[in-house]
Amino acid sequence: MTTAPEPFLDEQKSLACVHCGLCLGSCPTYLETGNENDSPRGRIYLMRAVQSGRLPLADAVPHFDLCLGCRACEAACPSGVHYGELLEGTRDHLERHHQRSPWQNFLRRVLIERIFPHPVLMKLALLPARLLKRAEAEHLLPKFAKDALALLPNEMTAGNLPEISPALGQRRGRVGFIRGCVMNVMFGRTNENSIRLLNLAGYDVVTPRDQGCCGALHAHGGNLAAARETARNNLAAFADESLSAIVINAAGCGSTLKEYSHLLPGDPRAASFSAKVKDLSEFLVAAGFQSAIGNRQSAIKVTFHDACHLAHAQRITHPPRLLVKAVAGANFVELPESDVCCGSAGSYNLTEPAMAERLQRRKVDNILRTGATCVVTTNPGCLLQMRAGLDQAGARHVETMHIADFLERSLASPPAGDRDFSHSS
Ligand code: SF4
Ligand code: SF4
Repeated sequence: MTTAPEPFLDEQKSLACVHCGLCLGSCPTYLETGNENDSPRGRIYLMRAVQSGRLPLADAVPHFDLCLGCRACEAACPSGVHYGELLEGTRDHLERHHQRSPWQNFLRRVLIERIFPHPVLMKLALLPARLLKRAEAEHLLPKFAKDALALLPNEMTAGNLPEISPALGQRRGRVGFIRGCVMNVMFGRTNENSIRLLNLAGYDVVTPRDQGCCGALHAHGGNLAAARETARNNLAAFADESLSAIVINAAGCGSTLKEYSHLLPGDPRAASFSAKVKDLSEFLVAAGFQSAIGNRQSAIKVTFHDACHLAHAQRITHPPRLLVKAVAGANFVELPESDVCCGSAGSYNLTEPAMAERLQRRKVDNILRTGATCVVTTNPGCLLQMRAGLDQAGARHVETMHIADFLERSLASPPAGDRDFSHSS
């Protein structure tokens, strides 16, 4: 006989699932395993069984752990089930009541929660890994370490962003910029390019120095208390009311930033902060940037991968395509299963490497099928995961690019045409 645990599940929200199964075809783990327990409705059933005490938590943990948190099920669900919220509450409960192995504890509690959100610690932790990679000594490592090392980019550029970066041309407003944790350490040039695009669109960009991690790593990893603390820090850092928007170029962070009002329901600042948060592609398209790019045709075939937290959590699929198509023209090709997770899913490729690898292979096969030599996306984790997968498949000729780098490179190359971005809306 199992005793009922403390309540962690919003019963009403879980009952919104009518078990119709319409989400099954969009769930990557169900597509791979065919196991109902690894499907959205199966997991919701398990959550309710644990909540009611009919199932020991430990029996359900493997199925909760295998969930990518990609929220494809949410986008597919006709009943409006808030799967992401149910999962976050479940994981918060799980992490407080389930005993993990020392290795999983190290990954989750130390590496992901304590090191990744702090740029200095992340740089220090990455140093030996980068030296090993440079010395091409990966073969000396066990498989899990070799796979983790493969995720590191060959070239890392640390962010050195000014606190204020003025608009170029006619000034249209003032926005805030979130530099991110992984973005700031590994993709500093992408951050610089993002700010430059916003400046070209006519916006002063403010990057507050005292901003911190968005809290996504903590919220997705089952530490809601830490996620709330980081959220409060950002509410204070972006209190400047003259900012008309707060722009972010990492999809995973964007979805958490847009959900601060759920994370801090009693805090009146959270709703207005979240309402201002815009993904870079969303903001640029609303500012009419695509018409300033003009109708081009890239020399190479280009495709686009939908980051889960942009396509499913934020329901943004059209704006980034509009921008990529404006550059690629007839050389844009749709990616089959473009919105199926690549296996990165934040830190999932570290905690669940076997399933991450299966999804990575699936993504790489789809990319290669398009014949594209450039795949564009909007999230650092997807960039690292797809790059590693393409390298392992011997497809080094296929570039992986963040949309900001793709746009900046395209705009820098001829034909430049009329680049009066300040009058583009
Ligand atoms: S989550 Fe939604 S789509 Fe999936 S089974 Fe439940 S009600 Fe149906
Ligand atoms: S979040 Fe993704 S992996 Fe998890 S149940 Fe939903 S679709 Fe499946």
